[in-house]
Amino acid sequence: LRILGIESSCDETGVALVQTQAVGWPRLLAHGLHTQMRMHAEYGGVVPELASRDHIRRVLPLTEQVLAEAGLATRDIDCVAYTRGPGLAGALLVGAGVACALGASLGVPVLGVHHLEGHLLSPFLSADPPEFPFVALLVSGGHTQLMRVVGVGQYELLGETIDDAAGEAFDKSAKLLGLGYPGGPALSRLAEQGNAQAFALPRPLLHSHGLDFSFAGLKTAVLVQSKKLPTDEAALAQARADLAASTQAAIVEVLLKKSLAALRQTGDQRLVVAGGVGANRALREALNLACARRGVRVHYPELALCTDNGAMIAMAAGMRIAAGVDTPIKRYAFDVKPRWPLDAIAAAA
Ligand code: ATP
Ligand code: MG
Ligand code: FE
Repeated sequence: LRILGIESSCDETGVALVQTQAVGWPRLLAHGLHTQMRMHAEYGGVVPELASRDHIRRVLPLTEQVLAEAGLATRDIDCVAYTRGPGLAGALLVGAGVACALGASLGVPVLGVHHLEGHLLSPFLSADPPEFPFVALLVSGGHTQLMRVVGVGQYELLGETIDDAAGEAFDKSAKLLGLGYPGGPALSRLAEQGNAQAFALPRPLLHSHGLDFSFAGLKTAVLVQSKKLPTDEAALAQARADLAASTQAAIVEVLLKKSLAALRQTGDQRLVVAGGVGANRALREALNLACARRGVRVHYPELALCTDNGAMIAMAAGMRIAAGVDTPIKRYAFDVKPRWPLDAIAAAA
């Protein structure tokens, strides 16, 4: 079965082709991505209407590019998957509309996929895929959750952020440091030159509220510190790097401690990290070290597949079909769910 996957929930248009296998999980044939980051950077955040319009411009050329790369034609597509939610309604509708139009014209079934399930299963695209069960740390721009994953489609929420997501904490702190949008990667680069002990920043809920997170207070603390930075040029440069390093250290410590607590709680020996913040080097180093000490295996998506992409949507669809939890049907309703909690996935299907 060859599955075309389309991602358009936010500010990246992603298209990919996977092929199910007789044994094991589906294999990625090709994928293409267009990020709108530069378009939105000017506004300091994603502008929904601009996002929708750009998805319309990009999705068909990307589909042609991916088919060409795989050496296939549209008639070789057996199923079309798209991101059904959560995300921006207008942006989601573009992917859903294209998927259903393609499905209807080719006479093949379509399947709406949960965006976070895509992130969660993205490590299965790596050379060293995980095995079930595992604890998943989902750290993206809009979500920070710990989930217990028993199998495809079986997700139990263990804890989540009560305010900002980890990616948001990176981005908002980066903005305060004048690093542009989305500033997570830039903050992480600046942090390499800084001293993480220079500023004592809060680690909200580190020892309370079970497996829930809170990052809003950290952002406020960074705001306060960013107003007291020295004016001397050399001292300012060092202080900014120190503040970046201290911010990153605070986020990483919370994510690490809560992940370890989740592993203790479930008794699992595997941790899967997914979402854009999963690309962060300091986080990977901290998790690798702590997990190695405890005999826990950690799995990540490939660096390029941590943030939004089509491969994870095609893969999630392929895994749902391969595991028998979904049978795609020839119904072209192009429905989207802009708000859709991952642990409600079975009930909502
Ligand atoms: P969601 O999936 O919750 O709807 P999203 O799709 O916008 O949100 P992702 O694409 O998974 O989120 O991730 C984007 C986030 O990851 C941004 O906040 C970005 O700053 C952050 N990010 C990406 N790379 C890094 C990095 N190296 N260090 C820290 N943060 C990073
Ligand atoms: Mg994005
Ligand atoms: Fe995402």
